[in-house]
Parts: sequence; structure tokens; C-alpha cells
Amino acid sequence: MTPNHNLFVALSDAFPDELDTVAIETADGGEALRYSWRDIHRATAMIANLLDWLELPPGARVAVQTEKSVEALLLYLAVLRAGYVYLPLNTAYQSAEIEYFIGNAEPSVVVCSGKNFSWVSRIAFKAGTTHVFTLNEDRSGSLLERAAHHSDRHTPAHKAADDLAAILYTSGTTGRSKGAMLSHDNLLSNAVALKHYWGWSAGDVLIHALPIFHVHGLFVASHGALLNGSKMIWFSRFDPKAVTARLPDATVFMGVPTLYVRLLGEPGFGSQACRHMRLFVSGSAPLLIETFNEFRERSGHTILERYGMSETLMLTSNPCDPKHGERRGGTVGFPLPGVRLRIVDEHGRRCAAGEIGGIEVNGPNVFHGYWRMPEKTNEEFSTDDAGTRWFKTGDVGRIDADGYVTIVGRSKDLIITGGFNVYPAEVEAVLNELPGVAESAVVGVPHPDFGEGVVALVVPRPGAAPDAAQLIAALKTRIANFKVPKRLFVVNELPRNAMGKVQKNLLREQNQALFAD
Ligand code: AMP
Repeated sequence: MTPNHNLFVALSDAFPDELDTVAIETADGGEALRYSWRDIHRATAMIANLLDWLELPPGARVAVQTEKSVEALLLYLAVLRAGYVYLPLNTAYQSAEIEYFIGNAEPSVVVCSGKNFSWVSRIAFKAGTTHVFTLNEDRSGSLLERAAHHSDRHTPAHKAADDLAAILYTSGTTGRSKGAMLSHDNLLSNAVALKHYWGWSAGDVLIHALPIFHVHGLFVASHGALLNGSKMIWFSRFDPKAVTARLPDATVFMGVPTLYVRLLGEPGFGSQACRHMRLFVSGSAPLLIETFNEFRERSGHTILERYGMSETLMLTSNPCDPKHGERRGGTVGFPLPGVRLRIVDEHGRRCAAGEIGGIEVNGPNVFHGYWRMPEKTNEEFSTDDAGTRWFKTGDVGRIDADGYVTIVGRSKDLIITGGFNVYPAEVEAVLNELPGVAESAVVGVPHPDFGEGVVALVVPRPGAAPDAAQLIAALKTRIANFKVPKRLFVVNELPRNAMGKVQKNLLREQNQALFAD
């Protein structure tokens, strides 16, 4: 018999021998709930047995839109264990979005919060879903009630390396979401690479405060801890005060940049709270250099920034071990072991060091295509002379002479004005350095003369009131004139999605008609 590549097997093989020690401890206030490794074994077996009992077709999708809870993580592990395909959905999605995802993925099973059951089940049954269960934050709901009748022993389904384990719908800050198909081996190879590169070792404890409908919290954080047999301190939602209070009990924290900004806004946060910490990881959106510097001053720790996406899992990382180099703010570090990354120009030719171009990647972590979109999948891959297939990430960046990768923006965000390329990240970086500016976003919108006109939105620092005309005048002394925004607005905040990414599509829409006359 061929080896079983079921990711659940690899994760559970890494559980410690002392199965009754604490694997997950909740930290949201109230009495802490503690789950042992044995609890994870038993609960996932019961849910997997329930799924098996439903006699789902092979490759059936299990779509899940529930609030974050330990049970929701156990459900994910049970779906792996039973050999079905897990499909997490952002808790913020409303009925039109859910209708699209369920219609597109045709899941056999949908699990939702009890409060959404009536409208979610209507959509699901209409799309041919045969089973809709509920799972609530307080562990009530039909899923666990039904699972309770099943055995707490279960033999994990036999899976090949390329069998699908999950479908992740891209967060869609540009265009319609597509379902990225990830196999058991995509997930395991990436988890193993990160385990070694980030030096996970005995005694590590993770603070898990990210959502679990996204690659960062579901895969990078959870797999990291599970594959190391490490305890997780579990927050259903991020609260800077509560997280600061638990930092002394932890060694690893993972966050999107906004979580770091909020930690810095917490008066109790500082080096004392971080005294046992080993590693702070940031990703999913660019980390401002100011945040990187301020964090180092306040905590004594240098944030490790990494880069990845739903389609590829993690691609690059700043070094964890100083012998591999320093952690450079503003960069996303080096390609991870096993990942190949190249920068190409618009003709698909490799760029020289320092030159900006499209980022393409290849490796065991790269997904198996977009669910039911073979043409879209083909468009997003290129093949080189040696026959190697490269995934076009849609990100634009450069590799410097030392090998560090820097992300300059999304190719769809690239602005072409009067025939010149403007990379928003470059203008944003200069803007963010100006007095009174906390952060900024630069987009291109239709312009009758230039094709696109550059527009900037600026968020002031608390108490500051920067003047648009003065900011533009300051930019003119620092960057080429064609890059200087034609219009600049001071705004209270930038629209962000749940992972802290600025939604540039919304900014473009809002400013669509700015230069119409
Ligand atoms: P998602 O598939 O939702 O994880 O989004 C992936 C996208 O987030 C990437 O293609 C990048 O555009 C962006 N991203 C992820 N990590 C970083 C980072 N460290 N710096 C800048 N952009 C990032």
C-alpha cells in the first residue's frame, strides 16, 4: 500500500507522547477551557465518523462559516481526517457572497452559526447541499450534538499527496473570488518548511489570535503549533490588552500588520511583556517600516515579515536564525527552502537584481489550480524553456543583490500615467515619511489626458492636520513629477478587509469620476 499522505496523520504523529497535557487553552476571559491532545484525537474522530456516516461522495466539500472557536478548528482537522475537502468562509460574508461561494463550490455539507441557519440553509439546499449543521461559539449546535453519537476512534482516510485538502477562496480585493485548490502535500510541505525555517522547538507556545478562515490563521499558525506539538493560547478575537497579558506565557505570536499597530497602542505592551517571546511574525499585508522600527524599540524584538498567498501558502520569509542574515524591515526576506521565485518583465524575461517586475513562483507549495476555472488557471501560469511551470502571483517586486525580496504592489494596482509606470508602494513610502502622515494609499483612476491619474489618500497621525497642497509640494521635491498625485485627500481611515489589506478596488471606485471632466 502507498504511504498515507493525509495531512491529519502527519499532524497527529507530531502530538507529544503525553496525550493528557494541554494542547489548546482558551483565553477570551471567563473560565479558561483546556483541550488536551487526547481531546483533539477523540473529538476529531467523532466528527470524522459523523461525516463518514453521511456517505458523502469522494472529494465532497465541507463549507464552514462559523465564528472562531476551538471546535471550528477541530472540525477542520476532522474534515482532513475523514478525507474530505475543507472550505472556510469569511465570517463577514453576507447572503449574496455566500450564494456565490456555495453555488460555485457545491459543498455536500455546510456548517454555519445557528443565528444564520435559516438563510444559509435556504441557499445551501437550493444549491444541492444535502446536510446543513450548526456550530456556535459556545459549543452548542447540531454538529456536535450529532457527532456525540459517534465513536471516538477513527482510522484516517487514505490520501495521495495530490488529493485536495482545502479550497480557499481568494480574498478578492480585485475582482471575483476564485477557489484555490490546495492538496495535502501543498499544506504539509509548507508546514514542514516553516517548522524548520522558523526554528519551532520544544517549549514553544503560540498565541493564536488570527481568524481561521484564512491561510495565515488556519494554516501557518495552527499547523505550526500542531506540527511541533506546541500548546496554543487561543483568542477568538484579538484584544490587545488581553493578548499583552498572556504574552509572558508564550514564545511565538503571528499577526497581520494592524494587530502590531494595535499592540503598540496598548500602554501595557513592552519588553517586560515580551520577556519569554522568541518570534513575532507578520504577513498578509505590508508592514510599515515605522511599525517595524517602533516595535523594535518598544519590545526589543525584530518582527519577522513573511510573504505568501492563498494560492501558494508561504513563499518568502525574513531569516529567523541570525546566521541566515538580518531581518530587514520593508522586505519579505528570502524564498523559503524548496520555493523558487523569479522576477520577470512584461515579456517574461528574467529581471536583473534590483529591477522591478512580476513575481513568479514554483515549488511543492503551489496550488493545483482554481476550482472549476481551468482557463483562468492556465492564464495564471507561464512555462519556461526548460518546461517548468511558474505561477504568476500578480504581485510586483524586486530582489536586491543580497537576495532579499521586496513587494512593490499588486500588478493590478500598477498605475500607468502618460505612458509611465507608477508603483503605488513607492509613492506611499515617501508620503508616509512626511510630517503628520500616519499612512497612505495611492491608486490610479481614469484620466482623459494621461490614461490614469495618480490619486492619494492620506490618514493623519493623531492630533496632526497635514495640508494636501503642502504634502504635494513636499512630494515634488522628492519624486519624479509623473509620480506625484494629481489629487490628494486627507481621510480618517483607509477601507480594509478582515486581513488588514487596504481595499484599493473600493478607493478606485470611489474616485472613478474624479478626472471625468
Ligand atoms: P491572500 O491570498 O488573501 O493571503 O492575499 C495574498 C496577497 O497578500 C499577496 O499576493 C500579496 O499581495 C499580499 N501580501 C501577503 N503578505 C504580504 C507582505 N508581507 N507584504 C506585502 N504584501 C503581502
